Amino acid sequence: MASGSNSLMWFRKGLRIHDNPALEYAAKNSSHVYPVFVIDPHYMKPDPTAFSPGSKFAGLNRIRFLLESLTDLDCSLKKISSRLLVLHGDPGDVVIRCLKEWDIKKLCFEYDTDPYYQALDRKVKNYALDSGVEIFSPVSHTLFNPAEIIQKNGGKPPMNCQLILKIAGEPHWLSSSLSTTVPTLPPVGDVGSCEISEVPTVKQLGYEDNQEDETPIFKGGESEALRRLRESINDKEWVAKFEKPNGDPSAFLKPATTMLSPYLKFGCLSSRYFYQCLKEIEKEVKHHTLPPVSLSGQLLWRDFFYTVGFGTVNFDRMRNNAICRQIPWNNDDELLAAWRDARTGFPWIDAIMVQLRKWGWIHHLARHSVACFLTRGDLFVHWEKGRDVFERLLVDSDWAINNGNWLWLSCSAFFYQYHRIYSPITFGKKYDPTGAYIRHFLPVLKDMPKEYIYEPWTAPLSIQTKANCIIGKDYPKPIISHEIASKECKNKIAAAYKLYKTNNGQVSDEDLQKLRRQMVDNLDHNQGTGSRRLKQQKLI
Ligand code: FAD
Repeated sequence: MASGSNSLMWFRKGLRIHDNPALEYAAKNSSHVYPVFVIDPHYMKPDPTAFSPGSKFAGLNRIRFLLESLTDLDCSLKKISSRLLVLHGDPGDVVIRCLKEWDIKKLCFEYDTDPYYQALDRKVKNYALDSGVEIFSPVSHTLFNPAEIIQKNGGKPPMNCQLILKIAGEPHWLSSSLSTTVPTLPPVGDVGSCEISEVPTVKQLGYEDNQEDETPIFKGGESEALRRLRESINDKEWVAKFEKPNGDPSAFLKPATTMLSPYLKFGCLSSRYFYQCLKEIEKEVKHHTLPPVSLSGQLLWRDFFYTVGFGTVNFDRMRNNAICRQIPWNNDDELLAAWRDARTGFPWIDAIMVQLRKWGWIHHLARHSVACFLTRGDLFVHWEKGRDVFERLLVDSDWAINNGNWLWLSCSAFFYQYHRIYSPITFGKKYDPTGAYIRHFLPVLKDMPKEYIYEPWTAPLSIQTKANCIIGKDYPKPIISHEIASKECKNKIAAAYKLYKTNNGQVSDEDLQKLRRQMVDNLDHNQGTGSRRLKQQKLI
């Protein structure tokens, strides 16, 4: 163990001081601690060809959130006699260079299960091990260690969220007090010739700061995360009664859930600290809901997807993914673009997609609605394409959770009741009969009478004229007939499941091609039905 020597604390996620075992360890017995964040072009370089402002993988909302989180982290580090060292470049190369330049004896960073970081960390670890640098890389992003859960489950990830607690019991740290502060850090040493910058602004990174017209919904950083956590759990009754999937997806003035996901994604908030707070409340109140529907249960869902994602080869694709049913999805980019750009002609779906683009966050059931609509419900577009759109636009975009939920919603894994489809017309109406949510996010429909707000194409022309919204001109006609398209989707999934059963789960690319051809033949045979006919109408 290196005593009185230099340590490097490499921040990636885990952008916090509280409950940060890697940071605590870096501080122990070190004369200098170098807290580093590397601006990685892989995630941060502007991509002018992308469908919305941002980099190749991340929309501007998420990049802004990350930069705000770094500024907040820098402020907190300054309060404990340190500061954040921001460097630019390939993180592997940059960190290796810092290890050499600063004579680092201890490298500390939070363990990351995402495939991108697994590969990156292998490279850095190999160098460190060869050079005699001690590595400390604890699991602190999730409640449990996914590798341990898999090992305890006989080498396979559990395929049911409730099994996590059964397999592991309550987490070992639950009864100990997680650190909420670090009193002080050893100073930053000489940085030599390494180019250190301040936290850049979006402009300095090469983005136009075209802030959407609404005030940003999230402010990145640990301070805001802890403030929002306190606000969320202040009402113990609310926590005790929390029950997902109950909750109104159309509530936008006061959303029905905590909205803490972006903070958990970047680790501005420790999921372990959050879980501990919830468990305290559950002890205090007389009655409370239980996992998987309780608020503490939501964090178990998070761990569940992390564990399955970690233990499944090719988790983020359909091909060669052992848990994913092979379904002959289409790759219709025209339908995809209509969905992505809020031009489906179904106000409930389009309003959600506008909220996603503006806020970078939508309620869980809103995510269900649009994911179902794009895939197995109506458009039959490949779930990987929808996943990519979410990955880009969500501020909370998270590799394991996003892929896991798209697998779920498309009935490709975990959930197989494909006949249960969210109606793009009646589902939202249950929560919001007057259409306040639609009017807010689609102002073009603001004067449409409530009788027609979910199906404006059925409004007589005189009503459309009065509402200043002519369907087909000011707002698109629906791109499909939901009634017909949803029936076609069900038939297609039924055929794919049948093939899966007959082939004992072994469906090859050729089998899938054959099935796809059969489906096209069937559609041609039944000319005049649903999705095709409406698709031939011009999309607006
Ligand atoms: P709350 O209900 O307050 O829950 C608290 C926390 O529990 C969340 O912040 C989140 O970390 C976790 N959680 C809640 N629901 C789930 C769930 N179903 N699976 C895993 N963890 C959960 N969530 C993401 O964080 N990132 C994503 O990229 C993401 N993509 C999704 C894609 C689809 C198609 C769907 C249907 C859901 C997706 N979710 C994702 C899960 C869920 O919708 C969000 O976590 C939740 O809506 C965030 O809001 P909240 O923080 O108010 O949640």
